[in-house]
Amino acid sequence: MSNFFNNLRYKFARWMQGRYGADNFTRFLSFLLLGLVVVNLFVRSGILSLLAWAVIIYMYFRVFSKNISKRYAENQKYLALEAKVKNFFSGITDPAKRAKNREQRKNYHIYKCPQCKQKIRIPRGKGMIMVKCPKCGNEFKKKS
Ligand SMILES: [Zn+2]
Repeated sequence: MSNFFNNLRYKFARWMQGRYGADNFTRFLSFLLLGLVVVNLFVRSGILSLLAWAVIIYMYFRVFSKNISKRYAENQKYLALEAKVKNFFSGITDPAKRAKNREQRKNYHIYKCPQCKQKIRIPRGKGMIMVKCPKCGNEFKKKS
């Protein structure tokens, strides 16, 4: 019997060769799926169970995908977004960070370069000034 399972595991490992497998985004999707299933225990909505199935299919599509570079890029995008969300919430909950943000707002204006959208920090209280974008060299007038 254990031979049968070993054989099965071996076959599965061979089948998985060259396929992407699980990553952080897979983990997120499985949590999302769990959330959907638990919520649906109470609401029993057809749309939610359809959504849960869509998540399952998408999750396995990614795990068994052979387009590894594309799946990897998706995971990088997911990680960047996750970092952004974490950063946003720590900006709300972390008192040291909040104090620092408040200090920044008091002493500096944050402007975006109209040409390349680079964020530029300008000290407040200097009247109208010419701002030179450090990235693209574009100059524009701003009230500081
Ligand atoms: Zn610029």
